Amino acid sequence: MKVVLENLTKRYPSRNKRAAGDVIAVDHFTFEIPDGKLVGLLGPSGCGKSTTLNLISGLTKPTEGSIYFGDEDVTKMAPEHRGVGLVFQNYALYPHLTVMENITFPLENLKGKAKLPKAERERRAREIAALVQIDSLLDRKPSELSGGQQQRVAIARALVKMPRVLLLDEPLSNLDARLRLQTREEIKRIQKETGITTVFVTHDQDEAMSISDLIVVMKDGVVQQIGAPQAVYDDPANLFVARFLGTPPINVFEGCVKKEKLYIGGKRVLDVEGADDGEVLVGIRPEGFLPDEKGSFSCTLSGIEVMGRDVSIVSTHKASQNATVRAIVPSELGINTASSEVSFSLKPSKVYLFDKETERRIGFAFEGDNDTQKESSVGFVGKILGQLFKRGGK
Ligand code: ADP
Ligand code: MG
Repeated sequence: MKVVLENLTKRYPSRNKRAAGDVIAVDHFTFEIPDGKLVGLLGPSGCGKSTTLNLISGLTKPTEGSIYFGDEDVTKMAPEHRGVGLVFQNYALYPHLTVMENITFPLENLKGKAKLPKAERERRAREIAALVQIDSLLDRKPSELSGGQQQRVAIARALVKMPRVLLLDEPLSNLDARLRLQTREEIKRIQKETGITTVFVTHDQDEAMSISDLIVVMKDGVVQQIGAPQAVYDDPANLFVARFLGTPPINVFEGCVKKEKLYIGGKRVLDVEGADDGEVLVGIRPEGFLPDEKGSFSCTLSGIEVMGRDVSIVSTHKASQNATVRAIVPSELGINTASSEVSFSLKPSKVYLFDKETERRIGFAFEGDNDTQKESSVGFVGKILGQLFKRGGK
């Protein structure tokens, strides 16, 4: 079932008399959620994710705009008739009911033709419980379950009525890091197996990127960008999106373009064919730096952090907007830590220019896909890892 949002807007009247105007929680959101896909709604706290979800579920009424499930206009339809399954951050299970009773609960009060005999209700609950792998826990009470198991019961309860659309609002926030990873993979699997169109709300970019077919990045109620996770990461529409995706975050510098050359801190660092002259903000992904003795981009070395497969080179630069500049490079590359300077050449595909005023992306052309050539010609400074660790450990 595809879900179409058309000009969807929610305004709340401001309670603060001194504050100007209403709170626009969701601002003219237009988007078609494709049938059977998992869409991640991503953005910082307060950007309008839950409001969007509640508009889709019908718990909140829009100020403007329409919602369609398939071709059916559901904008004025009551939530209980929309056929949506909802899962929230707090599992909200009934503590006095068993897992089985919690799962069958939504089926208890079906009326008329929809009414199901007890045996059928339990058969369905068992089927769903097997899908979310809690079929051995059906006789327990919620207090006898771990957080992850409780969340699975909540998901089973949302699925038992075979919803047309599944809506998940930060469903993993109450779980510890390890369980969060495991459960998000589970959710992806369950979504694939059932093929239910799903909207997954989270403020965690890593979570959204890893499980979504499409991500929608929001800020202050306004959609910033929609696309496949990798495409949005590789091709951010503006500085906000570039900053929001990726760990460690993108490095941002003040810079300027003169005659299709990019300057950072007064040094010429890259050819940027087609970019107009003027001041810019420059985003460089941590993986966009190649340690290179002859590189044009030099930073003051602060230290090295070992991450296993990769190392993180931590440095500072006077034009940097971030407190530190972080470069992630394969651990095989030797870094001369005896020097107080570290020089890099830049991978043009990992360098982004943004208009200083609007923070919108400015495109530029660069020569082919020569990143790999560059990588192999990186000037090796020798593998002085011993020294490197000493310095990093200080
Ligand atoms: P998110 O889920 O992304 O953290 P929300 O959708 O909950 O954000 O909120 C978006 C904005 O709308 C926030 O500024 C919030 O304060 C405001 N808001 C949400 N619900 C209400 C409400 N019932 N009344 C007034 N303002 C609200
Ligand atoms: Mg929320």
